[in-house]
Amino acid sequence: MESPTPPAPSVGERLEAIREAGLGRRMRTVGSPQGPRVTLDGREVLLLCSNDYLGLANHPAVLAAAADAIERWGAGSGASRLVSGNMAPHERLERRLAGFHGTESALLFGSGYLANTGIVAALAHHGDVVYSDELNHASIIDGCRLAGAETFVYRHRDIEHLAWALERTTGHAGLIVTDGLFSMDGDIAPLRWLRELASRYGAKLMVDDAHAVGALGPGGRGTVAEAGLADEVDVLVGTLGKSLGSYGAYACTTGEIRELLVNTARPLIFSTGLPPACAAAAEGALEVLRSEPERVSRLRENARTLRDALAVAGLEAGGGGAQIIPVAIGDPDRAVAICRRALDGGVYAQAIRPPTVPEGTSRLRLTAMAGHEPEELREAARTIADAVRAVSADGEWSIDLPDPEPGELRVERGSEAPASAWSAAPIA
Ligand code: PMP
Repeated sequence: MESPTPPAPSVGERLEAIREAGLGRRMRTVGSPQGPRVTLDGREVLLLCSNDYLGLANHPAVLAAAADAIERWGAGSGASRLVSGNMAPHERLERRLAGFHGTESALLFGSGYLANTGIVAALAHHGDVVYSDELNHASIIDGCRLAGAETFVYRHRDIEHLAWALERTTGHAGLIVTDGLFSMDGDIAPLRWLRELASRYGAKLMVDDAHAVGALGPGGRGTVAEAGLADEVDVLVGTLGKSLGSYGAYACTTGEIRELLVNTARPLIFSTGLPPACAAAAEGALEVLRSEPERVSRLRENARTLRDALAVAGLEAGGGGAQIIPVAIGDPDRAVAICRRALDGGVYAQAIRPPTVPEGTSRLRLTAMAGHEPEELREAARTIADAVRAVSADGEWSIDLPDPEPGELRVERGSEAPASAWSAAPIA
């Protein structure tokens, strides 16, 4: 006789399990606009975990552009862009973004999450294989899940592993997709190699440059431009909600792919168009980026200052020299304890834990901003190092990260979906 199915855990039981694993989350309240210093839960702290890298979310020119658009166009767009929600600010921003990245066209989405889920699912057809870096953002992972295609997850930035899979794929190599600048690790995808492999095997290449736009590359055009590949990736995704200080996202691509997305990307078709003021604010931000390019260089200098100061304070930081600087901790409880301790010292560097990052790799993810003063970054590095030492002295914490198993391929990350939600690519 089959045993009866055990009852599903209650909401309370599920929450308890999350808390017990050291993975409970809560929102802190920011009582001021984004900036190098913010009011957090009522007190001023140095902010080291914002994606408003250039300080444009509260720049007067960006605010004026948004306010003007609110006056002219109202607060909301009222409908999907395919119904009656497509307005002049959307189209103007799309022309400007295409010009900025040197592509034929651009298409706005409601957010980066919506863009990635929609685009991957629209481009990867039944019978295709999608090749996805194992540390890609959750929205790309979810796009792979929604797509009718099969997914092969290649080891992080591992070109040989990807080539091995492409060579053995019996299905159609549909799409290679990668973050440009990895959001939690701060390193950069090997884009020229990816371009080469995509061409060799007839796959499309999609790069999510959410964190690199405004931060890396000539004039803040991102990793794709830095690699000399402007107009050579099939789809470049950028967000308006990070360096551009607003909300929303876009794909820069060919006119033909844009038309396919307009016809098949479900988050575009079935969701209300971006508020016109968000588009106008982002256009204002692009103008500031053009007229004040020194913001990009200040961001880079501040990233270097923070990284150097961490080293002087005895902490080894990861990443590849960009503004995203992970400090590996390992254990999630320990990461939270260090975050709290640093906060007591007036520094807010959020602890990042699974499912945002793989098991055993909890970390502090520090982000520099263009508006930070070098001295406050040095001071912050000392505060964080003191917090790490204080928490280590407090308990039985293991400091080293576990080495990944050699040859192990992680196909599941950051989800409650069963592992079978990922299907292995048909490998000969
Ligand atoms: N891609 C990456 C690499 C991201 O880090 C994020 C957000 N953190 C997104 C996409 C989603 O962008 P949005 O916040 O606009 O939804």
